[in-house]
Amino acid sequence: MGGTVWNCDDCSKEEQKLRGCHGGAKLPTLLVTGDYSNTCPVRLGAKVEPVLREYSHWKAGRLFNPGTYADQPGVYIELMRLIDNLIIQRQKQDNEQ
Ligand SMILES: [Zn+2]
Repeated sequence: MGGTVWNCDDCSKEEQKLRGCHGGAKLPTLLVTGDYSNTCPVRLGAKVEPVLREYSHWKAGRLFNPGTYADQPGVYIELMRLIDNLIIQRQKQDNEQ
């Protein structure tokens, strides 16, 4: 690494098509605002927060907007809880095996 933090050189050819490293993503990135982006999350960088990146902040107790839960976008809370539930389900399945 080194040089530009946000570049798509590390994205594979397949990832570039899916993520939209040059725009026109086949698999748009879901953002915490509830919008979809046709541009690779790597290129979006710090401008907007893809859901999964924001989830790690959520788990660390850092919310999307300043303030309390009441100050957060509804879709953000829903998405974070959805990911929580998916992970819990997965862990249950793993424990049963
Ligand atoms: Zn990319």
